[in-house]
Amino acid sequence: MAKRTINDIDLRGKRVLARVDYNVPMADKDGAMRINDDTRIRATLPTLQSMTESGAKVVLAAHLGRPKGERVPSMSLRPVADRLSELIGQPVAFCDQCVGQAATDAAAKLEDGGLLLLENVRYHAEEEANDPAFAKQLAGDAEVFVNDAFGAAHRAHASTAGVAAVLNARGGQCVSGLLMERELQFLGDELESPERPFVVILGGAKVSDKIKVIDRLLDKADTILIGGAMAYTFKLAKGFTVGKSLVERDKVDVAQAALDKAAKRGVQFLIPSDNVIAVPTEIDGRFAFGDHRVNDSENIPDNVEGVDIGPKSAEAFCSVIAGAGTILWNGPMGIFEDERFAGGTFAVAKAVCEATANGAKSIIGGGDSVKALNKAGLGDQVTFMSTGGGASLEFLEGRELPGVDALADK
Ligand code: AMP
Repeated sequence: MAKRTINDIDLRGKRVLARVDYNVPMADKDGAMRINDDTRIRATLPTLQSMTESGAKVVLAAHLGRPKGERVPSMSLRPVADRLSELIGQPVAFCDQCVGQAATDAAAKLEDGGLLLLENVRYHAEEEANDPAFAKQLAGDAEVFVNDAFGAAHRAHASTAGVAAVLNARGGQCVSGLLMERELQFLGDELESPERPFVVILGGAKVSDKIKVIDRLLDKADTILIGGAMAYTFKLAKGFTVGKSLVERDKVDVAQAALDKAAKRGVQFLIPSDNVIAVPTEIDGRFAFGDHRVNDSENIPDNVEGVDIGPKSAEAFCSVIAGAGTILWNGPMGIFEDERFAGGTFAVAKAVCEATANGAKSIIGGGDSVKALNKAGLGDQVTFMSTGGGASLEFLEGRELPGVDALADK
């Protein structure tokens, strides 16, 4: 069911606690932490602008990295406050605590339309433990809780589920931000009744990570295209050899069950008929690949590893994508981080963008497919790119996300 959003309530003069996803990549440069990619900060601007224009007093809570309950200086959110201030064009106060007197005082100083970012909530072990007393402190005197952090919504933590429980118990309001609303619309509502044909493209490392998504989408999709290392487990199920490719031998029966279900439901289910292969050599615990070439056979020879889909498969996948009404894509077709093995992923990315230009709705289900599209410079040519990784997958599996569940229904 659709969730109430910030547009459904009156925020004038209200005290708001907003959970945002500012888990941005940072690196040390000349002794100071610098933000490498501010996409996640930019993604919250529509929600923040709408709230500040409504005159709300907005306290922002977020996490960065995995400090595991310790104050790790390199994981401070202070640089995010500075960057957010530049992007939104107004001062953003920063408090180096997220709970306690300093945080309470900083929140009390906020004027209507003001913004305050609290320090990393994961500096406290109580955050991930969803400790009720910590959640109560974090909630402060907020009258409204806004969750715009889809990427953290699959975790029942104090700043996602805990504060919502506090607000709900004292008659406050819990609503979604505009980014969260778009995530729920595209990964949820749009896929419930997709424009047909509905083509699902899945790749990445493991069948086990995505089998529940495959199973659920087999009820809805017209075609499923499988690439990445997970294709090799399906190859094994079909009786082909996979050489040294990354496979999950204990998941062959799971792959077979998916193939059976596809056949029963009349879902077209394609796995690569050719592959790019390479010879792996282990050097200091890491794999290097040499002698890469196209293997124009369903079977992969003994001493080589499948590292990408081959040109014939890419062409077959792209022609299916060209005819799609709705496309959902999650996971690369090969080890795209190495440009020798990025051809299949980039061909699929291009085909998805061309289909979008021709009227298809394209939804990118987060994680590495988003990275691949951005690497190909095509990030702005799809209908929607999810900001969630694990959260997107769990949502696509049809699971309730604790951070979404706690928000009021429309
Ligand atoms: P996931 O997080 O499950 O979407 O997996 C993404 C990862 O899968 C990327 O880091 C890819 O390098 C990796 N991957 C894709 N294809 C292969 C392959 N054929 N062999 C090994 N790893 C792969």
